[in-house]
Formats: sequence, structure tokens, C-alpha cells
Amino acid sequence: MDKVPVILNPSAHSEKGKNSATEIRAMSGRIELIETSDIREVKEIARDIARRGGPALAVAGGDGTINAVISGLAGSETSLGIFPIGTMNLFARELKLPKKNLHGCWQVIEAGVTRKVDLFGVNDGIFVQVAGVGMDARIIEKTTWESKKKYGVLSYLMSALSVAGSEAPRLRVIPEGSEPLEGAFVLIGNGALYGRAFKMFRNASNDDGMLEVLVFEKQSRIDVIRYLLAVTMGRVEKASGVSYVRARALRVESDSEVPVQVDGELAGHTPVEFFALDHGLNVFVPAGQASRGTGSSV
Ligand SMILES: [Mg+2]
Repeated sequence: MDKVPVILNPSAHSEKGKNSATEIRAMSGRIELIETSDIREVKEIARDIARRGGPALAVAGGDGTINAVISGLAGSETSLGIFPIGTMNLFARELKLPKKNLHGCWQVIEAGVTRKVDLFGVNDGIFVQVAGVGMDARIIEKTTWESKKKYGVLSYLMSALSVAGSEAPRLRVIPEGSEPLEGAFVLIGNGALYGRAFKMFRNASNDDGMLEVLVFEKQSRIDVIRYLLAVTMGRVEKASGVSYVRARALRVESDSEVPVQVDGELAGHTPVEFFALDHGLNVFVPAGQASRGTGSSV
């Protein structure tokens, strides 16, 4: 049987990455581990494998590394396997891959069941799970890895408190096919999950060609707390000061430069355009996840 290349990008600041490398290397003689900590190289290796018509490629890393690999695979028929070894692992959770079980993830790849998921373009990059303009990008910008190492998830909360208290930018959100909206920050979902614990986009399906768009009018601390309560109660799109639209594409503009995050990594500033790509991505999924929506199994 063919070998499966596995791109591994261990976090520069974690022991977990090193242990995962050892575990994955020992897992199967079919695994060809390619280790790199250079995110541009991650994308180039993936692009090269796709160009040569490789049937499968796996990635061991966090959501940012997974995004880089998918950027390289976009437009190809190469199927992607995932070993989630990041902090959030949003895309892996969305696909219902085994949690904290790298061997289980390998079994998913070996079983060979795939599903097609939507990919969206974001300016020059791609987007597979969640993006944000404004507040959450600012929070990521303000949270240093030193702080993350010291305080864990709390570090994001500390940044959030300071960002929520600051003056809000005015964003103009222009969804394709519906009226423009205004707000302080915007969240855009392909999948349903957001952050460590939230099901932000209740109606999301990552194979219907549509993005879920939530536009938040304000970002004072009291408003943000109100929004979060609405999220935990599963009705954020109905909360006052929140607009919800679905669109195949949208543009977000502002008078000042406002940061953008894509799959948890900073990705430039406004203006930013999100648009559906014609060609989806084949991903290896557990057998029960194969036939959702218009997805197909092989
Ligand atoms: Mg969708």
C-alpha cells in the first residue's frame, strides 16, 4: 500500500508537539512524516503533493497549520487527513474526529471514507472554519504566546476585557444578495463551532455553499456579555443588536484599518472579501459523517 505523507508542524512553544511527533512516527509503517515549522513551507509541500496528484495527505498541527495545508490543496482532488494537536482543534471537532486519540485519527484515514466540504476565499487566502473582523481579531492580536503559556485560555479572556472596553470601529458589511449592514464586529462561519466551547452558528452546514454571517452592533463589556449569554442559550442570531444573514460572498469595509482573523490566525486588515470557491475539499471523516448534506463518500 502507498505511504501517506503527514506534514507535522509542532508548536514552537509546546512539549505536546514533540510527543505527538514521536507517537505519529511510531504509529504505522505507511506514514511518511515531513516535519517543518515554517508555515510557508507547509503550504508549498501540500501544493506540491496536490500537483503530483497525490491521493492523500495528512496534517498534524493546529487550525492555523491546517489552514496552510488546505491553501496548498485547494482546487485538487487530494484527500486530507487530520491529526489535531493544536489548542482549539475547531475543524477536527467540526468533522467529529476522535478527540485526544491520534491512533483513532489514523484509523479514520486508513478506512478511506471522505466527505466534501466547502472552501471559501478570503482576499488572497482561504478559509475553512471561522473568521472574524474586528473584536476577535483584535483579541488574538493582543494575546501573546507568553501570556497563553502563563494563563492558558484565561489569557484570551483578559485580552477580551480590554478590547471590549475600547472604542468600537464602524464596519460596513455588504453581503451578496442582501442589504448592507453596519456593526462593531463581524463573525463569519463555514462550520458551526467557535472557540473552545461555543456553537456559534446554529444553522451552519459546511457543504451548502453558504457562509453564516453575524453582525454585532456594539462591543461594550455589557453588550459582549449579553451576546455571550445568547450564544450559550443557542439564540445569538435573535439577540437585540445582532443581525444574521447567509451569503455566498460578502465584503467588509471600514474607514480605519480593522484586523481580520481567519481560522484563528491574523490575516491582514479591512477591506476584506469572502467568496465561495467552486472546488471543495475532500476530507477523511469517521464513517457515520460521510453522507451529510450533498457530501459524498468514496
Ligand atoms: Mg455553509
